[in-house]
Amino acid sequence: MNAKANKNQVTSIEPAYYQAITEAIRKEAVQILKDETVVGVVGYLPGRRKGTASPALVTTVEEAEKLIFSPACVNNLSVYLTKAKKGVLKQGKVGIVAKGCDMRALAGLMTESQLQREDLFIIGVVCPGVYGFGVERTGTVTEANIARKCRECTVHMPEGADVAAGTHAELADLTPEEAEEMARIEAMPQAERWAFWKEHFSRCIRCMACRQVCPFCYCEQCLCDKNRPQAVESSPRPAGNMAWHLVRAMHLAGRCGGCAECERVCPMDIPLNLLNRRMAQELKELYDFEAGLTPVEKGPLNEYKENDDQSFIK
Ligand code: SF4
Ligand code: SF4
Ligand code: SF4
Ligand code: SF4
Repeated sequence: MNAKANKNQVTSIEPAYYQAITEAIRKEAVQILKDETVVGVVGYLPGRRKGTASPALVTTVEEAEKLIFSPACVNNLSVYLTKAKKGVLKQGKVGIVAKGCDMRALAGLMTESQLQREDLFIIGVVCPGVYGFGVERTGTVTEANIARKCRECTVHMPEGADVAAGTHAELADLTPEEAEEMARIEAMPQAERWAFWKEHFSRCIRCMACRQVCPFCYCEQCLCDKNRPQAVESSPRPAGNMAWHLVRAMHLAGRCGGCAECERVCPMDIPLNLLNRRMAQELKELYDFEAGLTPVEKGPLNEYKENDDQSFIK
């Protein structure tokens, strides 16, 4: 489906939209568990606190009937197929609920041979948007409480899913806050830009939440945890912080699908997605590549071509 061809722009996304998606997810999840297409479905259940949602692996029809989709379903569930729940895939095919931005992570993980398409049943969400951080959760999504990433979403329709839950609707006339901020940073003189990032990185407490939530940080041992020899100083001091952020940005370049989960979980409000997007912009300009749109055999940084840009080699 083409999002542009089916644009349905509205000024608010009412709870009924999310309820319709919820019903569609439940119907599919129940069906694929009943007919044993899958051993479980990774989706969202109501959270402990009112108005929240929690990622969950459901394995019974009774549990599947409780799955939800609401503006609080912010998590990128693909991470649960790479870390804590990695073993689930060994038991058989798994269902997963995926918004468009989560689909990009699934496609990237297929590119990196971490997932096989035939091992997944993807319930794609035709996603109108989710809550931003620290906003009022009213059940209705408007310009005032939608996540920053959703303001510039190009993947409302879940391309490549087995089924799509929901009908297209998106908020009209949203200002692209992140793009504007990126342009403002780009326009800064180099020293000012350096000071901007240095100040942000200096606040990092090295909790590593950004790494833990990232579907592409699936390394069994992160370079930044190595201590024999130590590659990156682990305490939150300026030099180590800078090294960690450079490592993170470089390791995610050409892979990051832009789910913005790293930024969402950062307790120090460091604008990590601006850096992710800046790296993605480089990849687009240098290699005409956008990570995670479809699975590819190799990303551009894993492949050498005679006509690759060499201008950075001095
Ligand atoms: S970025 Fe797009 S697909 Fe992702 S949560 Fe926002 S609206 Fe949904
Ligand atoms: S770096 Fe951040 S935005 Fe990119 S895939 Fe990882 S968590 Fe998502
Ligand atoms: S930062 Fe690099 S080494 Fe560490 S988990 Fe992420 S990709 Fe792996
Ligand atoms: S989540 Fe934030 S504070 Fe924690 S390590 Fe990442 S950037 Fe630093």
